[in-house]
Amino acid sequence: MSKLVIVPTPIGNLDDISARAIDALARCDIVLCEDTRVCSKLLNHLKMDKKMLLYRDDNEERQVPKIIDLIGEGNTVCLTSDAGTPAISDPGYRIVNACRRRKIPIESLPGACALITALAASGLPSNGFLFLGFLPNKTSARTNMFKKYIDFDYTLIFYESCHKILKFLKDLQSVIGATRVICVAREMTKIHEIFHVGEVGQIYDEIAATSVKGEYVIIVAPQRFKFNQCSLDL
Ligand code: SAM
Repeated sequence: MSKLVIVPTPIGNLDDISARAIDALARCDIVLCEDTRVCSKLLNHLKMDKKMLLYRDDNEERQVPKIIDLIGEGNTVCLTSDAGTPAISDPGYRIVNACRRRKIPIESLPGACALITALAASGLPSNGFLFLGFLPNKTSARTNMFKKYIDFDYTLIFYESCHKILKFLKDLQSVIGATRVICVAREMTKIHEIFHVGEVGQIYDEIAATSVKGEYVIIVAPQRFKFNQCSLDL
């Protein structure tokens, strides 16, 4: 039976693709991708030659009816993105929603996701958390978001690009102060992977002193968390 398969791809290390993801890609008729060059790199690594269809932020709405028709005609379609789990700060939710409404079978494969990889390795409270993805670029809009969640009782997680990481940390510090514990996970699963864990002010200085190239996940501990007195009730 034709279906939509959600296929997470590696966030850096190509060997992080799962056996089920490889099997799904091998069996499917069409691979949805954000960028055919990025997708081809993975398919070449897996020695596969597949039909690709662009599915990106800027054509998502237009592509949904076409993809629904393709599945209706008997094609199994794999949804991928450039890196990590599709639909998580990436295109995907619209086609998944359209399939749900039409009762088209959906298979969701577990796999790489930057926020989960970072949180698990941070040493910060992980029982409850709020993922806010990318915040607005403007300082005023971004600091308003920080103000909204400054007293939130659980861990906060954000995504940010290398161009804006220092500005992000500066805005964060201006709202929550210099001593809140954070973790900044950079270039996970890649050669220059590094985790910075400590107080915001110290982490800002550490990152400012290095080359900021790469991709970042920022994790902010709740106010009452003290890194060296990790208590079980958090
Ligand atoms: N769908 C992806 C996922 O499952 O995590 C997220 C895609 S989003 C467009 C890209 C952002 O994820 C980057 O700007 C960065 O914040 C984070 N990210 C992706 N790969 C990363 C890595 N290897 N190390 C650190 N952060 C990463």
